[in-house]
Amino acid sequence: MKAAFKSVANNIHRYPDGSQIQLRQTLADVHNLDVKKIVCGNGSEELIGLIVRSYISPGDEMLLSENHFIMCPIYCRAQGADVIFAPEKDYKIDIDALLERVSEKTRMIIVANPNNPTGTYISESEIRRLHAGLPENVLLLVDDAYAEYVTTDDYKTSLDMVDQYDNVVVTRTFSKIYGLAGLRIGWAYCPQSVLENI
Ligand SMILES: *Cc1c(COP(=O)(O)O)cnc(C)c1O
Repeated sequence: MKAAFKSVANNIHRYPDGSQIQLRQTLADVHNLDVKKIVCGNGSEELIGLIVRSYISPGDEMLLSENHFIMCPIYCRAQGADVIFAPEKDYKIDIDALLERVSEKTRMIIVANPNNPTGTYISESEIRRLHAGLPENVLLLVDDAYAEYVTTDDYKTSLDMVDQYDNVVVTRTFSKIYGLAGLRIGWAYCPQSVLENI
């Protein structure tokens, strides 16, 4: 990877390809995804921020689990919206506690799976139960920044849910498993409506 980085040192006066086609096509091939639904960003943080700015307005509510990754409440409050936290059990996301707090104002819910800083995850069936309990107008963003680290059979990245539902977005990153945080490479897999909005 360092060799690849050095090999492009003489090209840094050039702007990168704005549509990131090579990277997106490779991601589509590796993960067996629809290339049109992949968008790359300066880290997945940038994409999460864009999605929050597109979907959250003053008066809306964003629902998060108690110990959710620190940046999301900041993005939400910057929109003048309220963050509603659901308590956790043993530092683990509690699906029922989240669903109990869905209101008419809820616009978006973000789940980091596994979460940082707790290091706990929820199973594929739990994520699907959460989604099944949400109204269709609530956007579920699953932040799978650490997906590669979970090896248990009951866990799965939620990428396939994006192809199944119009209100699910998944973000992934090169920062953690590949140790490339400084390069700022993140990507999101989005339904058409979300792509148009961001
Ligand atoms: C590190 C991290 C991110 C952001 O990663 P990027 O470097 O912006 O791709 C997002 N979510 C969680 C849970 C993280 O730990």
